[in-house]
Amino acid sequence: MAKINRIGILTSGGDSPGMNACIRAIVRTAIYHGVKVTGIIRGYAGLINGDMIEMDVGSVSNIIQRGGTILKTARSEEFKTQEGRAKAYENIKKWEIDALITIGGDGTYRGASDLNREYGVPIIGIPGTIDNDIYGTDYTIGYDTAINIALDAVDRIRDTAASHDRIFFVEVMGRNSGFIALDVGVAGGAEAILVPETITDVDKLCDTLVKGRKRGKHSSIVIVAEGDETGNSYEIAQKVKDRTGFDYRVTILGHIQRGGSPTARDRILASKLGLSAVEFLIDGVSNVMIGEINGEVVTTKLEMIWSNKKEIDTRLCRLAEILSI
Ligand code: ADP
Repeated sequence: MAKINRIGILTSGGDSPGMNACIRAIVRTAIYHGVKVTGIIRGYAGLINGDMIEMDVGSVSNIIQRGGTILKTARSEEFKTQEGRAKAYENIKKWEIDALITIGGDGTYRGASDLNREYGVPIIGIPGTIDNDIYGTDYTIGYDTAINIALDAVDRIRDTAASHDRIFFVEVMGRNSGFIALDVGVAGGAEAILVPETITDVDKLCDTLVKGRKRGKHSSIVIVAEGDETGNSYEIAQKVKDRTGFDYRVTILGHIQRGGSPTARDRILASKLGLSAVEFLIDGVSNVMIGEINGEVVTTKLEMIWSNKKEIDTRLCRLAEILSI
């Protein structure tokens, strides 16, 4: 592979806390190795429109603690077309970008992969999403922050649930996966956790809640993953009310889970993956995603990322069930 003189970086798909720490690590590692950096604004849309900036050590000062992404993010339908990618490649040539680092989810890597196949641009993906639903890494950047924000909310809701003897259904994010729900449910001592990976049995849920009442429990928290196959939290809560008569409240945490200052774990993960991405590219490695498994930085071929599904920890499901009796 030809020598890398300039790297382009972009953030794409949903934003996640820690993306800025990752951008900082990429810029500073690249400059440390004498490589120049172009920041691409609003993901692939910026690549198509030529919305790019020169980045230096100072341009990433004072961002490690900030949520969101200073490069902004966007979804681009145009980039899914060959014409869109041809425009993007014109700007890559114009800026003399030798390789790209894309921070985002599997959609982002699919786009990058197309660009590689059509124009040979070396690319590396970094997992940035609060959902943690990406194969090839134990944790994604932003996940730790998101679960801690959601957990704080659950703790607060429990206070009011206990005061009013109510059942609260708390809906958390996670697209089609239950990682956030499971971790938040276990850490928050939820009475039940509903995730899309397992079939929700509403009768069993009602039994759990009724049993709780019988032994003197007057409030309960049910965590619902947004992608649960039984329906959204309002639908499930109403089914429970129809069968048990229990009064309920629903809280949908929504986008507050995506904002705020990243936790130490997210900042450290983001920094490690950012540094490694640059050093792998310099060493001639590309078309992989950089992740961390069992504390080791690892690479996984991009096609593997979308052809494999990351499984939730079924031991944690069992633990949650036993501890919620
Ligand atoms: P994420 O990266 O979080 O999965 P998206 O699925 O929204 O987020 O993808 C981000 C962007 O990546 C899209 O807006 C689009 O520009 C690009 N992209 C997604 N899927 C493809 C694809 N199959 N081919 C080309 N580009 C894609």
